[in-house]
Amino acid sequence: MLKKGIGASPGIAIAKAFVYEKVEAEIPQYTVEDRDAEIERLQRALDESKTQLLQIKDKAAEALGAEEAEVFEAHAMILEDPEFADAIKNEISSSGTNAVQAAKGVVDMFYAMFDAMDDPYFRGRAADIRDVGTRVINNLLGIENIDLSSMPEDTILIAEDLAPSDTAQMDKVHVKGFATDIGSRTSHTAIMARSLEIPAVLGLGDITTAAKTGDLVIVDGSTGEVIVLPTAEELEKYKALQAKFIAYQKELAELKDAEAITTDGHRVELVGNIGSPNDIEGVLKNGGEGVGLYRTEFLYMDSDTMPDEEVQFTAYKKVIQAFGDRPVIIRTLDIGGDKKLPYLPLEEEMNPFLGLRAIRLCFQNEELFKTQLRAILRASAFGNAKIMFPMISVVSEVIQGKKLLAECMKELDDEKIAYNKDISVGIMVEIPAAAVTADIIVPEVSFFSIGTNDLCQYTLAVDRMNQNVSYLYDPFHPAIIRLVKNVIQASHSEVGKFTGMCGEFAGDPYATLLLMGLGLDEFSMSASSIPQVKKIIRSVSYQQAQDIANKALTLSTGKEVLDYIKGELDKLGITVM
Ligand code: PEP
Ligand code: MG
Repeated sequence: MLKKGIGASPGIAIAKAFVYEKVEAEIPQYTVEDRDAEIERLQRALDESKTQLLQIKDKAAEALGAEEAEVFEAHAMILEDPEFADAIKNEISSSGTNAVQAAKGVVDMFYAMFDAMDDPYFRGRAADIRDVGTRVINNLLGIENIDLSSMPEDTILIAEDLAPSDTAQMDKVHVKGFATDIGSRTSHTAIMARSLEIPAVLGLGDITTAAKTGDLVIVDGSTGEVIVLPTAEELEKYKALQAKFIAYQKELAELKDAEAITTDGHRVELVGNIGSPNDIEGVLKNGGEGVGLYRTEFLYMDSDTMPDEEVQFTAYKKVIQAFGDRPVIIRTLDIGGDKKLPYLPLEEEMNPFLGLRAIRLCFQNEELFKTQLRAILRASAFGNAKIMFPMISVVSEVIQGKKLLAECMKELDDEKIAYNKDISVGIMVEIPAAAVTADIIVPEVSFFSIGTNDLCQYTLAVDRMNQNVSYLYDPFHPAIIRLVKNVIQASHSEVGKFTGMCGEFAGDPYATLLLMGLGLDEFSMSASSIPQVKKIIRSVSYQQAQDIANKALTLSTGKEVLDYIKGELDKLGITVM
């Protein structure tokens, strides 16, 4: 029986299912006489939960590394968050509700609040709240939190959902893969699966009813397919695929320190996209040569209040120092569209992606913008930082951004604070107007970085979040390829200037030869995509890539372009997995 979900961590696992059923605790409904004693009982459960979480954190740090374990520190902090604990205590003291019922009510309220947010990051945090809440409730009721740390040999763990703490405690030796009913690519469970390098498929809907403990199951985390009770034929096919995948990973790992260079010596730069200092390790582990996009908005989104200059400086400095003299491109705040800040109220807009977003919002909130620019400038004294402005549509916005940057430099000079006076300034090219007029903008910038995620939605008039029109969302569309070519040509018209790409397209292995052939200088992507893209680059000559790009430019549709490239990769004997 074949099921399709979201491939959250690549690779193929074939093993017996263990269906993990969480018993949903029954919530007692009664009121208490002695409210103070009940609050004390709650406090003991909170303390116990905290101790357990810190123990899990240590376990996770050993198995996964310190950065990944930080989520449990964050969970422990939820317990200490006055908004969380006080809300439960207030409920007990005002209504005499028992601690379990009060805790459940507050957890459900926070869960619903996060779950309703548009941003997938915040939605992902709803699971964290529920995870912490279940622990507190179990501790109040004396229910043991189930131990996943010793599993039968060769197990595929199947669950409705896996909480981050389940994943961290999970027996890494015996669990070969996992599959869940719910979950998204941006959930912590998915992130952990990727860092554990265990194949995982999430969001399958009903895998907990489709599979029974003991059933043989195949999990293909690359395609998002799960097969319960495979036929002999299917089994054979997947065993062969598994062997191929393992061999391929081995080959890729050997390239970690190799250059991204073609057979005839054309060199490009492969760098990583990051959202926080936690992502540094992944980029380095996968051989990334720096950071092509640091999405700073996550620093703002992770906080309940506006992060001040010091907090920002510390985060930026950490990233910059980790990369030494290799480049770190810091993108200034890109809020608006689908990203909101709880503490920065924005007017409701009919078309938020066409509204007050990114640099536009920063120009209307100069103080906020200058705080960030000062933090970046101060951090620039510690390595090779570059500044990038998002959502530029016209050259005057670049000039305005640089004017504010110059004001910050002057302030720092007056305060005798060090920074890199020659810091490079570039822009994201993600609005068609900027791509078409790249020749007008180029004198004002040191580099371009093409944001295909937005460039596609604006060029093709396809909302990047709308499933109904996603079939039209196609970065191989001739319009996009021509815009990319135009931007690269404009940057190459001035000595020392370059074009990178930091949209998802840069990490698409089917796009690698096309983009390199068009002359792209820098490819910035999720860290785990770097090895495969590097391998493809090292398999061809620059001339071959240019020939492919030139031919692709003559084709009429995105599908024709993609089919053509697939054919060329086949001819060249290049595998894409
Ligand atoms: C892009 O638009 O391609 C991009 C990289 O920015 P974001 O996905 O953060 O909008
Ligand atoms: Mg963008």
